[in-house]
Amino acid sequence: MITPEELLTAAKELETQLRTWRRTLHRHPEVGFDLPETKALVKKALTEMGYAPQDCGKCGVLALAGGKHPGKTILLRGDMDALPIQEESGEEFASEVPGKMHGCGHDMHTAMMLGAAKLLKEHEDEIEGTIKLEFQPAEEIFQGSLDMLKNGLLENPKVDAAVMFHVLAGMPLPVGTVLVPGGGITMASCEQYHITVHGKGGHGSMPNACIDPITAAAHIHIALQEINSRELDPAKFGVFTTGRFEAGKTSNVIPDSADMWGTIRTVDPEGAVSEQIHQRMTEIAQGVAAAYRCTADVEFSDHCPCMVVDTPLAKNALTYMTELLGRGAMDMTVLTGGKPGGGSEDFAFVSHEVPTVSMFLSAGNAKEGYVYGQHHPKVRFDDSVLYEGAAAYAYMGLRWLSDHKA
Ligand SMILES: [Zn+2]
Ligand SMILES: [Zn+2]
Repeated sequence: MITPEELLTAAKELETQLRTWRRTLHRHPEVGFDLPETKALVKKALTEMGYAPQDCGKCGVLALAGGKHPGKTILLRGDMDALPIQEESGEEFASEVPGKMHGCGHDMHTAMMLGAAKLLKEHEDEIEGTIKLEFQPAEEIFQGSLDMLKNGLLENPKVDAAVMFHVLAGMPLPVGTVLVPGGGITMASCEQYHITVHGKGGHGSMPNACIDPITAAAHIHIALQEINSRELDPAKFGVFTTGRFEAGKTSNVIPDSADMWGTIRTVDPEGAVSEQIHQRMTEIAQGVAAAYRCTADVEFSDHCPCMVVDTPLAKNALTYMTELLGRGAMDMTVLTGGKPGGGSEDFAFVSHEVPTVSMFLSAGNAKEGYVYGQHHPKVRFDDSVLYEGAAAYAYMGLRWLSDHKA
């Protein structure tokens, strides 16, 4: 098998190509399942490398490397979708699409996966089993992973282990550091809520003839905070945030309704905490709405479970990443104490099906001016780490298969 040094050198030689892929994607961000240009770029690149990429689900792409020698199958995943936000990064290759931005770094992931695909194709004879490459849409809306799962992601060949990386920006970490978690829950579940408060609109001069949904919604917003501060077990993690609050169109009209959208995150695999939040959120919204003569509809959607990392696979990953990167591989539990983070990731659906490890790659050191985190309109990522990411994906696949011969 190729040595870690040789693999890193080969990956470094791809650097110009990696940057070109990443920056092309960055200029043309696409969101959700609607990724025609992104998917075309991925399929073209894979085909040129000698792969036979296949569609999976609404907008996913799969490609197989190896399969010449008997062995297990490992899944490597990169997501491809951007966010519906306006970019303010100031990069010369910033988004050319108004209102869309690769603000989570999925353009980096796609480029890293293409780099891994290239490296693996060049060393295909050394793959002791099969490496399945997954290019996933719609991560940000927590639907892409599930859609690909429902469309045979883990079959033909059957997947035995699964790996993902996510880039990180805005942390005081040396650029290029791979963070490997311990086992257990490493990321929170997430789901959306939508509260609609119905009143009765009318002229702003005559509130007495109306039922003001904005006042009721404002009281609901404040009242919901009591769930966190007074009702949830402080030892249990449960957080929700209303990130969008909309009502009315103009200053002198009381609208008919007001809307609030938000997210709920927990780290309870049994779901009891989110059930408690569902119940109390519904009761409080409807109760407060009634107190102000309104009604409220409360809906929950787009659920994504907690990320569960497989302990033996995480131990393997720490060993392999240390072989590849030396001190550039870091045990994440040193930073977190093994506590899960509040972020969420829809690859969690896969983690409930097969042993999974989800790692991070530091791609923007806050001390070097990369101060903004993912999802911020000003976030920037240091794409000098792309070659390491490509090598890390490829090495995880090659090394795990050689370590776990069937
Ligand atoms: Zn994101
Ligand atoms: Zn992301």
